[in-house]
Amino acid sequence: MSSNSESNSKKPYAGLHIDTLAVRAAVDKSQYGENSEALYLTSSFTQPDSQTAARRFSGEEDGYIYSRFTNPTVASMEQRLALLEGAQACIGTSSGMSAVLLLCMGLLKSGDHVICSRSVFGSTIKLLGSEFAKFGVETTFVSQTDITEWEAAIKPTTKLFFAETPTNPLTEVCDIKALSHLAKGCGAVLAVDNCFCTPALQRPILLGADVVVHSGTKYLDGQGRVVAGALCASEQMVREKFIPVMRSAGMSLSPFNAWVVLKGMETLSIRMQAQSAQALSFATWLETHPKISRVYYPGLESHPQHDLAMAQQSGLGGAVLSFDVKASTPEEARRKAFTVIDKTQLMSVTANLGDVKTIITHPPSTSHGRLTEEQRHKAGIEQNLIRIAVGLEYLEDLKRDLSLGLDAI
Ligand SMILES: *Cc1c(COP(=O)(O)O)cnc(C)c1O
Repeated sequence: MSSNSESNSKKPYAGLHIDTLAVRAAVDKSQYGENSEALYLTSSFTQPDSQTAARRFSGEEDGYIYSRFTNPTVASMEQRLALLEGAQACIGTSSGMSAVLLLCMGLLKSGDHVICSRSVFGSTIKLLGSEFAKFGVETTFVSQTDITEWEAAIKPTTKLFFAETPTNPLTEVCDIKALSHLAKGCGAVLAVDNCFCTPALQRPILLGADVVVHSGTKYLDGQGRVVAGALCASEQMVREKFIPVMRSAGMSLSPFNAWVVLKGMETLSIRMQAQSAQALSFATWLETHPKISRVYYPGLESHPQHDLAMAQQSGLGGAVLSFDVKASTPEEARRKAFTVIDKTQLMSVTANLGDVKTIITHPPSTSHGRLTEEQRHKAGIEQNLIRIAVGLEYLEDLKRDLSLGLDAI
């Protein structure tokens, strides 16, 4: 929420479905009446006179000033995402990780304590466990699925619960409502990283979360073009806790990247439905494949938290799945996993996800390569694991592509 953007409550959006808001919500059109939202690629805004400038800088009067903290294209993206998440406000950031940085800088001080799932995105674990530890913020990492561990970790200094659901790469789900009860009971803020589901499938704020964290790099853009992020929260939290840090620290979202994400959100719902349906068909096929020992996908009935996932995620599993290839030793497992990946011709071998292009990766040697073998083993990530972020290619082409690898082992 740029400090001068109109609050969503004043716009005539009440009663509109989120599919409508995804296409329509934005700041007012310019005098030219552009139908597609304008890209305001400018670092600063001219002021009509010095008196007005003084009033705007002091916050007495609304008006755009400088794109580190106020830009109409960024404001459009923020309004649209806030409405999709069911939040009062949103603040765009330069990346998903800078959204986590802004969250922690805005809410925590030295001596505070954080409880975080040990299965969250690797850089989030590094940021909390290493970087913020340097400034006297302590983090306890707990089980993704066992709520009693969260409860046991609570201290008088606990200020923040940080969760991500489902997780990468094993698609483990946590119960947002249950975590919200626990956080409220001890006066802590619950933040949920909603990258994998997006508001098209899951709206954590409606389940009791206080803050939603986004990497716009993933499904919000949806076509792998830009790095972007955002926090959605109450108007008060955004105004009092996040905007002042943004103004001083400047982890700002570029107007161009905001515009790409803004346009990406217009097709978010239809992409998430189509990619989830493809992923379910793909996972169902993989589950019967003789070369595969286990498939991880919340949409499958075999998933340990299938019922919770379906209740929490609008009945859809999302577009990320993982599987174990059959192997007897870690060396054989790694060799076979590499063969499966390298024999594919269509799928992209890259660490990203959230694209309409299907992506295949080997988490133990890439995203989780910095962990020790023992840490990986504890996290359930063995050398035979492969992750696929399913895109929009024709499903039979994807199956044929993966079969090139599976038939070769
Ligand atoms: C990618 C990702 C992030 C970080 O986002 P960036 O835009 O790459 O900084 C955070 N959380 C999850 C779940 C992610 O997948």
